Order: sequence, then C-alpha cells, then structure tokens
Amino acid sequence: MVAASTFAVGLGPASAAPRFDSPMTDAEYGPAGPLPDPGDKARSPLTDLAAYPKLTSGQLAAKVAAESVARESADQRESAPFMELTDTSTLPDGRVRVTHFTFIPGTDATKAVKSLRERGFKNVKQEQPEAKPNASDSGIGAFGPNDCALGQARSVTCPNSWWSNLGRNNPVVLFNDHSSAAWPTTNAVYKWNQTPNIDSWYTWNNCNPSNVHCVDVWSGNYGDTGGLIGETVHYYIPPNHGRIIDAVVRLNDWYQPDTWTRNAMVTHELGHVLGLGHNQWSGDVMHQYVGTREDIGGENPALLAQIYSIDRQ
Ligand SMILES: [Zn+2]
Repeated sequence: MVAASTFAVGLGPASAAPRFDSPMTDAEYGPAGPLPDPGDKARSPLTDLAAYPKLTSGQLAAKVAAESVARESADQRESAPFMELTDTSTLPDGRVRVTHFTFIPGTDATKAVKSLRERGFKNVKQEQPEAKPNASDSGIGAFGPNDCALGQARSVTCPNSWWSNLGRNNPVVLFNDHSSAAWPTTNAVYKWNQTPNIDSWYTWNNCNPSNVHCVDVWSGNYGDTGGLIGETVHYYIPPNHGRIIDAVVRLNDWYQPDTWTRNAMVTHELGHVLGLGHNQWSGDVMHQYVGTREDIGGENPALLAQIYSIDRQ
C-alpha cells in the first residue's frame, strides 16, 4: 500500500468497492499535487545511448529467427494473465484517441467493458486470440495489410502508428517518468532503446531537450478501479491517423503486482507508446494478455525498426 503522504489524487481513502469512475481515464494528465516517491529513479541521467546500444541488423535478424523456431525464452513464465481492452474514440475536438486498458488477473471482462462504455468509451474491444487475418478491417485488434505488420507483431493502427523525427536522425520519445519507485520505468525504457531507428530516453519529472516527444508516465493511488491497473493513451489528428501527436501512460499504485510482473507490464505499455499494438504470441511482451514475458522479444523491435526506417518530419 502506498503511504498516505503520497496519496495525492484527492479521492480520499481507497474504497473497497470497484470504482470505474476514478479520474484515471478521464484526465489527460496525471495526478495533481505531490508526486510519489521515485526512489533512485530521480537520479537517473538522461539515457546514455552508448550504454544501451542498438541491436545491429544481424542481431535483430537472429532474434527474429530464434523466435520463429521457439517462441519461448528462459525468462518467459506461466502467469495469470492481465486482460487488455482497447477503445478507439473520436473526441469532440476532432482528435482520435486510442486507449489500451490493462486489468489485473481475475477481472470480469463483461463488467469491465460495460463500465467503460457507461463512462463514454463506446468502442471497447477485446482482441480474440483466434482472430484471423482480415485485410478489410482497419480497426484495432484486427489483422491488416502487410504494411502494418511484420511476422505477428502489430502496430497500434493500420497503417502504422509513428512518431515524427522532428529534425533528428531518429525520432526521440522521452519518457518523462513521474511514477513511484515501484514501477521499473527505467528498465523498460532502456530495453526499448535497443530498437534501431527510434530512440527511447528516460528522465524523471523533467523534459527539457528540444525536438523530442515528451510522454508522461504517471502513477498515483487511483483506488480500487475494478481491476484497472494501467493504461496507455494515444492521440492522433485525422487524416494523418498514423501520426501520433501525444501519448500518456498512467499506472495505479493501489495494486501491488510483483517486480517481474511490473517489468512485463511497463515494458508492454511503453511498447504501445512507441507504436506497437498487440500480437498473438502468448509468450510475447506485446501479447494481449500482459504478464507472460518481460523482454522486448525479436518481432517487436524488428517491426519498429521497419516503421521508423522512414524519416517523417
Ligand atoms: Zn496492451
């Protein structure tokens, strides 16, 4: 349980009853007031790219080949699945908002969908493990044309979702972490930075460098949100549906998964931020059920390297 002094979202004591009406998914920004204790993360320097080198094309090809043979790894484990739901909505101001919701194991999917719909998320979907390729469906969770996929890794939207370069050789997504020490955001950022053609940087509560995309990662004690432990939100402006203009991650400190699961979960949410959707490998960090793996795998960085092989200003 988070100490009372870090409980700063103004909800009062966490209630025992599920509350899908928490501001967790309503506010575009994180909790106001004092930030949670970041622990050692507050001293993390801006990501040193030399310390976290990119995968070479050879290393990337080897990872993809290895996974096509055996889609398991030593750090994969059996785990109760975290359910994922996805909503796509057009906001009154014209932006398109895609939200990935992550729920703790044991959450009743029917109740969760019903509650989210009552709160205005009218397009909530749960991807089906048995889904078949469907080139005519451009929606989230459906297989699209080849330009949004490599192997079974998927992008958030079809065509691809992407961040613009902003004049840099690689687009930079600077994860501006405001989350508590319990969330291993640093680890996840460094893992994703191995991906060629896009840079993932970490800072704590600071986003100064120019020509970067600042993505806030918040945590707060949002109370018992009916199993809702985390979410990643993307915003787009049509018709450039693939151009991500903003994203935010929110994590609920009320729930207390173990460290391994937190690593898997944060890695998964940050993969979404970079443009990845869900795939159908049960042993992949971007599987629709979170919590079976914590490393980035082979297909995911390969897809991102492909997406970001094009410079978009
Ligand atoms: Zn997800």
